[in-house]
Amino acid sequence: MNPTISLITPTPQFANDLADVVRIFWGGAQFKVNEPGGEITVTHTETEANGVRFCRVEMSGACSGCAEKSKEISPDPLLEKRYHKRLIKQALYDVMKQVTGRTPPWGSLTGIRPTRLLYEGMSRGLTLQQAEAETREIFDLLPEKAALLREIIEVQQALPIPQDDEVDLYVGIPFCVSRCAYCSFLSGEVGKGKQLSPYVDALEKEITGTLALMEEKGLKPRAFYMGGGTPTSLSAAMLDRVLTAAQPFIDRAMEVTVEAGRPDTIDAEKLAVIRSHKATRISINPQTMHDETLQRIGRRHTTAQTEAAYALAREAGFTHINMDVIAGLPGENLDMFLQTLAWSRGLAPESLTVHTLSIKRSSLLHLWEASLPDGDMVSRMVDAGRAEAAKRGMKPYYLYRQKHMAGNLENVGYALPGHACIYNVDMMEETGHVLACGAGAISKRVDPAIGRIERAPNVSEIKNYIDRTDEMLQRKQLLWQADWNTGNKTERN
Ligand code: SF4
Repeated sequence: MNPTISLITPTPQFANDLADVVRIFWGGAQFKVNEPGGEITVTHTETEANGVRFCRVEMSGACSGCAEKSKEISPDPLLEKRYHKRLIKQALYDVMKQVTGRTPPWGSLTGIRPTRLLYEGMSRGLTLQQAEAETREIFDLLPEKAALLREIIEVQQALPIPQDDEVDLYVGIPFCVSRCAYCSFLSGEVGKGKQLSPYVDALEKEITGTLALMEEKGLKPRAFYMGGGTPTSLSAAMLDRVLTAAQPFIDRAMEVTVEAGRPDTIDAEKLAVIRSHKATRISINPQTMHDETLQRIGRRHTTAQTEAAYALAREAGFTHINMDVIAGLPGENLDMFLQTLAWSRGLAPESLTVHTLSIKRSSLLHLWEASLPDGDMVSRMVDAGRAEAAKRGMKPYYLYRQKHMAGNLENVGYALPGHACIYNVDMMEETGHVLACGAGAISKRVDPAIGRIERAPNVSEIKNYIDRTDEMLQRKQLLWQADWNTGNKTERN
């Protein structure tokens, strides 16, 4: 059901958040805010008395239902804004459950980083188990989803905590050999490769300037991550130049990842270069073992190429290879996904990331909408991914959710003991500083104690980036010079 909904509310600033709740149930619902004429009308009203806010949400028209919620008003304005929004969302969620008869796996949660809710509870003095129970109850999570969050935090708690004088270095290569149909990144196709050389020149300059900034600010290396796009779209010589520029960081980093994403970009020479720069982890991502699906989604490689790439990487001496697979690809069913999981066992990656297909407007995948598996089937695929990882002794260590995900599910990284990727955790939990180089890369300065994050994004268009590299460096300098006592706090779930 994809109705048009008139949302009548005294708090239009929360309209997008309320729309997100409805779309958990009706993915294609359209909204008119404070305008009549929808097939369904949702009316939100509220009152305050004795320090308590009372909220009522009523649905009428093609479907009908009603729910009321109340909560004490917090004296902290930022907290109150969060609780106020949450109250209305939960009343609307109750109405949606009534009219659809469905209980979604993640309940009323629409945020990207649900682990934060448990961390927030723990910062109020709850134990991890109490925070799990509180989150499950407030947001109506299925018990297995709440338990997944707890297990992830248990793994994260054993990792080195980011220190204020440590920083991750991200280097982005926004090129790929062809564009995947589900891609929403800003990466361009390599094509004839004319932009590669000037891009590498600019990147070397930015990395060198960034390391000088680190030195000046007394920042120490934590994790290095080269991502994209597909870094191995570069030639071996270009990879060597970029990694050489970053080597002073890499030499002192606790972890070094290079994404080798597409199997058709990997050869022995590139792997030897990556190894020679002391990479500790690479990612080789089949997504599926079914060649017909790979063709359908625009990944111009085959399963045989993935197998060959894994063999080459092992020969080159890599002892930590990450594998990404996707649940919910067009034309795939549960059996096909199970076949991919079983096949991946033979390649024995040390970590496995199970993604759920997300269809963003910027991707081409909406063309395949009719052949997408339904949410229940994708949910069974995701469960199978979790069971498979457990069977191999892997534990979940990071999780994020996106909008427009099949079945409103999640992406989860699993790893064998000692193989959790620190950079992935830092990124997902937003607890560590990041200096980022390359087109579209975003540097971050964080203060987890007060939940404050400031960002300095690089321009994403490649020619602009090449022409304005000095300005990208200045943005990072400004970020670390900014008066750290006057920024905005970040919003959380
Ligand atoms: S490999 Fe990744 S970045 Fe490149 S086109 Fe595919 S999804 Fe996009």
